[in-house]
Amino acid sequence: MTDTIRLALVGMGKIAHDQHVPAIASNPAFELVATVSRSPGGVEGVPHFHDIDALAKSNVKVDAVALCTPPQVRHAIAAAALANNWHVFLEKPPGATLAEVAVLEELAAKANVTLFASWHSRYALGVEPAREWLSSRKVTSAAITWREDVRQWHPGQAWIWEAGGFGVFDPGINALSIATHIMPQPFFIERATLDFPANRDAPIAADVAFRTTEGTPVTLDLDWRQEGHQSWDIVVETTDGTLKLAEGGAVLTLPDGSTPHEQEGLHGEYPGLYARFAELVQGGRSDVDIAPLRHVADAFMRGKRREVEDFVE
Ligand code: NAP
Repeated sequence: MTDTIRLALVGMGKIAHDQHVPAIASNPAFELVATVSRSPGGVEGVPHFHDIDALAKSNVKVDAVALCTPPQVRHAIAAAALANNWHVFLEKPPGATLAEVAVLEELAAKANVTLFASWHSRYALGVEPAREWLSSRKVTSAAITWREDVRQWHPGQAWIWEAGGFGVFDPGINALSIATHIMPQPFFIERATLDFPANRDAPIAADVAFRTTEGTPVTLDLDWRQEGHQSWDIVVETTDGTLKLAEGGAVLTLPDGSTPHEQEGLHGEYPGLYARFAELVQGGRSDVDIAPLRHVADAFMRGKRREVEDFVE
């Protein structure tokens, strides 16, 4: 492998263009050598391929791929990439099932390459200082509220409403990726209600009650029908006062009113993810934390299903 990681970007949709392309361009550890997508929208000046097999058969030298397709099709592409001994960066969620992620971990270990299950929300500016502050506190309750307007944030994304697309847990898993990172104790589901529109295979809302191993209640309120003010908030009550993480982890407020945050230049969600991926590849390690995905799987397994009115975009 050359010093620079020659990277191909797969699934050229919203997140690939909005976040991955600029983050790769700003990190000298990477060179974008190819894009892969069924439609023609690649990046000017970069070779574009219809699928990963076409890329593998080409003359383009690749060390790593970042997969930005919907979760339902990610496993097969990741397995093909690992079969080529390429390092793999998985967008969140790392798969549509837990078992397929476990298989990828084994394949990556056998091929001696890096598998990175990325959780971009963990790199939001308030998250690390929140984790540090909470690490020495006694938590008495936590409330997670993720309420957004699906028409505004996911227009035309058919896959998100299909089985394996996760519905409202597509953004909800971001909240869980933060909560599993900052809470000092693990937690698990006690009860859940998932609201499925009668004409869809994925939930539009969910109400989930967890408890930590110490018995502390944690609630998760997800709703995609929110118009007007949008909420991506985590409020943690402790014996030392209330911690609030707002705007998806970007804004942290501690009980004394202070607002500590990581320096933007050092982190930021996607620059942070690519810095981590480079570190993993260079260090010959993988990072696959399935805790957020496990909670989503548990919600589908343990939750009550309620049918609600059709969702029409
Ligand atoms: P998107 O805009 O729908 O893009 C996904 C791309 O994957 C499509 O443009 C499509 O390109 C390709 N694709 C390959 N196989 C597909 C299939 N069977 N069905 C549909 N598309 C297929 O989705 P996105 O918002 O970028 O999200 C992609 C992943 O990133 C999801 O896992 C999501 O959770 C995650 N993510 C999204 C955001 C966000 O704000 N949007 C933020 C963070 C993470 P071709 O048709 O050209 O193949």
